[in-house]
Amino acid sequence: MYDDLAALLKKNNASLTQPRKKIFDLLLNQEPQTVQVLVRRAAGEVDRATVYRAIELFERLGIAHRLNIGWKYKIELSDIFAKHHHHFYCTNCGNTFNLSQNTMLETMIDSVSSKTGFSPRGHQLEVYGLCANCQSS
Ligand SMILES: [Zn+2]
Ligand SMILES: [Zn+2]
Repeated sequence: MYDDLAALLKKNNASLTQPRKKIFDLLLNQEPQTVQVLVRRAAGEVDRATVYRAIELFERLGIAHRLNIGWKYKIELSDIFAKHHHHFYCTNCGNTFNLSQNTMLETMIDSVSSKTGFSPRGHQLEVYGLCANCQSS
């Protein structure tokens, strides 16, 4: 995991510094998080500006990507470091949930873009609405 990360950084003339490693650890196997949450979790080890810079770099190199949900966004690791998945975003409580894997959906997205003459390398898909909890309250 760290080897892949280090190699990717190196290819782009960057190195796996301690702060970058820390931010990567905070993102690994986690639900999407806002940068504010990451800043809070890194507090004491990595300062705010460094967290923002690391996220910026991760996004630019495709290590992490942002999910636009409503007017804000959350960060999670890209498909290189996490299993490909989609999200459901609850507009009431703000929680994000992973949707279960669906091969048909994946094939369909690829074939739709191929038919249009594109060569798809990836996609993001977010579904929003109310989660089960918020529907019942
Ligand atoms: Zn909810
Ligand atoms: Zn997909």
